[in-house]
Amino acid sequence: MKAKVTYTSMNFDRPEESHPSHPDFSIAYQMLFAPRAPRAGVLLAVKRNRWTCSLFAFQDQPPTDDTGYLRFAENLDNPRLALQIERRTLQEPTYRYTNVDNQWRPYHAVMNWPDRLIAVGDAVCVFNPVYGQGLTVAAMEAELLHQMLARRSASGKPLDSLAGSFQKRVGRLLLSPWTLSTNSDLMWNPDRRPLGARFTHWYNTRLFHVAVKDAAVWARFVRVVNMVASPAVLFHPAVALKVLSTTFTLQDWPSGPAGCARCASRTSPTASRAVNGPPW
Ligand SMILES: Cc1cc2nc3c(=O)[nH]c(=O)nc-3n(C[C@H](O)[C@H](O)[C@H](O)COP(=O)(O)OP(=O)(O)OC[C@H]3O[C@@H](n4cnc5c(N)ncnc54)[C@H](O)[C@@H]3O)c2cc1C
Repeated sequence: MKAKVTYTSMNFDRPEESHPSHPDFSIAYQMLFAPRAPRAGVLLAVKRNRWTCSLFAFQDQPPTDDTGYLRFAENLDNPRLALQIERRTLQEPTYRYTNVDNQWRPYHAVMNWPDRLIAVGDAVCVFNPVYGQGLTVAAMEAELLHQMLARRSASGKPLDSLAGSFQKRVGRLLLSPWTLSTNSDLMWNPDRRPLGARFTHWYNTRLFHVAVKDAAVWARFVRVVNMVASPAVLFHPAVALKVLSTTFTLQDWPSGPAGCARCASRTSPTASRAVNGPPW
């Protein structure tokens, strides 16, 4: 499934804590959000005194040249990205990534899967990297394999047929992250928007509006983005009531949600990759 999103990334210096211009935030972002926000970016504190910055565009390409990169950031609603890019002291290279398509090879459906052959990670399913799901899913698959091997070893039985059962369970494991990721990408394509994807997109638009002001909703959102909680927690009555009673309309949202976080440790780098709207 083609996502038609391109991103260009750059690393540069971040003022040290002792410096007067040390920023009081660790993450600043503006989400891509179909159909109103086709341009976006994320600025993320990494290592001790470095920023990594990615600029995103749907059916467009953020420039790789220094001036064009800054101009693109200046046109975002969140001014923090351009301000930090502008004050960098060294010109550093940019890297463009264009292959953001989702691809799932349905090995779980292969009859007579060869014994002792295991496929995991991107060999089975590649996600649009803007959602930051690939490493987490690969780790969940490794954990699953570990559990299955440990059980088989404890039972003293040989490994026959384990590989086929594993691929089937990987198929079930992938269903949720795949739906989450592709639902969001489908929203850019007016011809292929299933009803379920349209409803979740409508719901999410309001959810963001609530989450930026409500710490409890925000905490749930971050847990879902980090794949430590099911998306179902965002449809819990405690959240749904707030979301459905918000008076927000799309007209209140001229381009896209923008924000910053003071505390990077509360949101992992993976979470910060959810710049294409949340992955569901
Ligand atoms: C630009 C980008 C950004 C991403 N950002 C994130 C993110 O923020 N968060 C996240 O969770 N995921 C992210 N991902 C996804 C994540 O990187 C992958 O899902 C993950 O690396 C998959 O792990 P893997 O072991 O399956 O494959 P890989 O990490 O690709 O490892 C495969 C290895 O096999 C080697 N190899 C290939 N062919 C052969 C051969 N014939 N013989 C021997 N070796 C071979 C390759 O060199 C490579 O080292 C991103 C991906 C990309 C491309």
